[in-house]
Parts: sequence; structure tokens; C-alpha cells
Amino acid sequence: MTTIDHRLLQVRARIARACAQHGRDPAGVALLAVSKTMSPAAVREAVHAGQRAFGENYVQEGVDKIAALRALGCTGLQWHYIGALQSNKTRAVAEHFDWVHGIERLAIAQRLSAQRPPGLAPLQVCIQVNLDGGRNKAGVSAPEALALAQQLLGLPRLRLRGLMCIPEPAPDFAAQCALFGQLRALLAQLQAAWPPGAAALDTLSMGMSADLEAAVASGSTLVRVGSAIFGPRA
Ligand SMILES: *Cc1c(COP(=O)(O)O)cnc(C)c1O
Repeated sequence: MTTIDHRLLQVRARIARACAQHGRDPAGVALLAVSKTMSPAAVREAVHAGQRAFGENYVQEGVDKIAALRALGCTGLQWHYIGALQSNKTRAVAEHFDWVHGIERLAIAQRLSAQRPPGLAPLQVCIQVNLDGGRNKAGVSAPEALALAQQLLGLPRLRLRGLMCIPEPAPDFAAQCALFGQLRALLAQLQAAWPPGAAALDTLSMGMSADLEAAVASGSTLVRVGSAIFGPRA
């Protein structure tokens, strides 16, 4: 068994254990393998171990890797853009990715919607929320997230699926849960105000290698895990 196989099993076991402890169905927690800086060969190993969804946070690296994996014969993968997004990079993201997790500006969302090719499914997006005022961290405030969500409803080629956060490292499990719980409460608020018939707001993108247990305990539906699967990044 390769290291990536083994680490993937360990991560799935961590998710399953956290689900069991908190009365959740493991089918309700998707695993996004964050493959930034990792080689196409490493991604292929993860594909062979059954992983289908991958996260990238540099546009050109991601676009190149998507092409490389296709050339290696790996199809049916789902690609998530999880990095910061500048307006001159929106077209490449709209043309190559399935999801974008870090929406924080209407202007970027408008460009993504306009540039999404007609032959592809709408781009699935999450609004990035900054709950702890992290110094350099992107994301909007809770009230801004509510307003931005309403504006995204008018963009035909985007589907708002939920909220995402990258908290500052917290000292312990309880502190991690307190922050993740705020994102869950904000999603509930958004769901209550959501028009019937709009696409389901079903995604809480939260939890990484170091805090996925707290995220699962707090209702995460998608954990973004890099180093615990692929090993430390250079
Ligand atoms: C790198 C990254 C991750 C994964 O971080 P790990 O600690 O390696 O699991 C998750 N989310 C985002 C947005 C990232 O940039």
C-alpha cells in the first residue's frame, strides 16, 4: 500500500470516527483532497485509491494539473478552486473548475457567471466568511454574506451552495467548535431566508487536516484536507 493510499484511509477513518461520535452519517461529509503543490502522479495515486474531488489554490497550477490528469487517463474528477481569485484569472477558473469556495466579491462572481461556458453545468460556489477577523484572511462578514447571497441569486451560471471558512488556528477543540458553530448558524439563517425553488444551500465547507474533527462535530458537509493525505508541502 502506498503512503497516499494509507493516509487516505486514515483520513476517512478520522471522518467516520468523528461522525460516529457526533451522530452523523458519514455520507453527509464529503472529502475534498487538497492537492495544491502536489504532482499529477500524486493525484493519480489518490484517484486510484478512490478519491474523486480535488482542491487547488493557484489557478495556473490547477489548470495544468487538470489537463495532466486527463492526459493520464483519469476522468470523472471534480475540481474545486479554493484560493484567492483576482479578476484577470476568473476565465480560466470558469472554464476548468466545477466549484469555487472563496467567493467574497460580487464583481468576481459576475465575471465567473458571464464566463462560464454554456456547455458546462453551472459553477457551484460558496461564500467565504471571515468570522474571527483573521488578519490576512479573505472573506466577508456575516451581514455581508447575507447580502452577497441575495445578489448571487441573480447570476444565471452560478449556484450558491453554501458557506466556507478558514479560521485562525484555535487553541483547542472547544474553541474550534465555537467558530465552526457560528458558520453553521449563519448558514441556517441564510437557509431560512432562501427562496423556495432555488438550488439547495447544503454546503458547509469547513475543516482541514488539523481541525476536521471539530468541523464534523459542528456540521461540516465538506472537509478540505491536504497534508494529512499528501504529506507536508514543500
Ligand atoms: C491548503 C488548504 C487546505 C488544506 O490544508 P491542510 O492543513 O494541508 O489540510 C484547506 N483549505 C484551503 C483553502 C487551503 O488553502
